[in-house]
Amino acid sequence: MRACLFPGSFDPPTNGHLDIAQRLSGLFDEVYVCVMRNGEKRPFLPEETRVELLKDALSGLPNVQVVLGEGFTVHMARKLNACAIARGIRDEQDFVYESRLVRANAYVDEGVETVFLPARPEHGGLSSSVVREIWGLSGDISALVPENVQKALEEMRKREN
Ligand code: ADP
Repeated sequence: MRACLFPGSFDPPTNGHLDIAQRLSGLFDEVYVCVMRNGEKRPFLPEETRVELLKDALSGLPNVQVVLGEGFTVHMARKLNACAIARGIRDEQDFVYESRLVRANAYVDEGVETVFLPARPEHGGLSSSVVREIWGLSGDISALVPENVQKALEEMRKREN
């Protein structure tokens, strides 16, 4: 049994995140998509909402589970018996940032591997912050996020107005 942990903020989940989760499901026996609690960041969507949206969007993949995590990602990986942490790489900046994280994680627990998956070219410019910005200016996000996320954000706008 080989499991991996795919941690992130997923605020909100995008098609780029889903693509990585889907590809990981073909590479590992079990994939834990882990919404990491971040005390510092003021979230756009509550963490429970992000978990629910991801669960719904990934329900077609039986070996993918969505969990809420906190603390060190390497500790989450150990707790869930995952042999690797997976991260998506969009460009050289992601590579530099993620490589730094790998080195920092090694100070905590060097026994957990990290695997980098390249983003699909069409997702290279896609991030949760881009989605938040376009949504904030009432732009069309239908090509960037799964349908359930789009619906949730539309409802959020209705509540705000
Ligand atoms: P974090 O705050 O931990 O970076 P994110 O939700 O922004 O959390 O990203 C989670 C993971 O998904 C990261 O590994 C990130 O590089 C990857 N990711 C984000 N957007 C994309 C995308 N468009 N294509 C591929 N991977 C992505």
